[in-house]
Amino acid sequence: MQRQIAVVGSINLDLVVRCATLPRPGETVMASDLAEMCGGKGANQAVAASRAGGKVALVGRVGDDHFGQRLREQLLHEQVDCQQVKTSTGCASGAAMVSVEESGENAIVVVPGANGQMTAADVLAARETIASSDVLLVQLEVPLDAVVAAVQLARQAGVRVILDPAPAREHLPAELWQVDLICPNETEAALLTGMPVQTEAEVSQAARALQARGAKAVVITLGERGAWLATGQESEWIPAFSANVVDTTAAGDAFAGACAVHWAEHDCLADAVRFASAAGALATSQAGAQSSMARRTAIDNLCRTRPAADDSAK
Ligand code: ADP
Repeated sequence: MQRQIAVVGSINLDLVVRCATLPRPGETVMASDLAEMCGGKGANQAVAASRAGGKVALVGRVGDDHFGQRLREQLLHEQVDCQQVKTSTGCASGAAMVSVEESGENAIVVVPGANGQMTAADVLAARETIASSDVLLVQLEVPLDAVVAAVQLARQAGVRVILDPAPAREHLPAELWQVDLICPNETEAALLTGMPVQTEAEVSQAARALQARGAKAVVITLGERGAWLATGQESEWIPAFSANVVDTTAAGDAFAGACAVHWAEHDCLADAVRFASAAGALATSQAGAQSSMARRTAIDNLCRTRPAADDSAK
């Protein structure tokens, strides 16, 4: 049976321009290309979970501009339930202007737009959607009041909660530590703990520090080095799958969305992290964010190239 995943988070339209060199203040430069890409961590993770096999509902906001319509249509095309995506009147949709120069260096301006108008009331209006889900997935790209309300609602309803603490920040409200899984990348883990996160010993200590704050389980993702999983007293490296890397954008979003689906289905976090690592690796082998998310068959096929945690224990 398809598991239900609720995602509470941001929805953005990214306008990406490519230029030889980034403009300096006051300068005008010509771009060689302009691309409109659907993004936002909430929407990316919703699409990742949907393609990975989940029945996904997104709680969020878009503006009443033409971007809002386009973002909603794209989510529906990806089989994401948008009944709890509200439209803010007189407000722009969340957008990011991304300029990329030939060297790969970029400059980004983000307009939170409607994402910034998300409130705890929006979350409470989606109570039934969240309470009837198997897993709630949240990030930090919408106002924290809304994220806290979602986590509290899910906990009261006995729904498992995964927090991807991105974008990186130094402090989290106490309520956000009360989650079943927190899955920072190394930069986010370093900022949250104030500790170095490079060597295996450091990664392990940072994971313990995150558990000590209240998270029941911790996964620190480390790009091509893989992921470190700490549950209770146990911890282990889950190595990355090899990938033909084209663009690492949204690997973390692919990871979080796929992890939610597999954990809801099989109740084994180590296997969920392995499945999520395969989804992360596949996302790096395609350009873009939502367009790079892998489908279930491709993730399963990559997983079959390595035995499951359960099998290797036999
Ligand atoms: P983020 O995008 O949040 O920085 P990571 O870069 O840590 O997240 O990627 C998340 C996961 O995706 C990693 O733990 C890994 O399993 C997979 N992944 C990311 N980059 C690569 C890569 N270059 N090769 C293989 N797998 C990767």
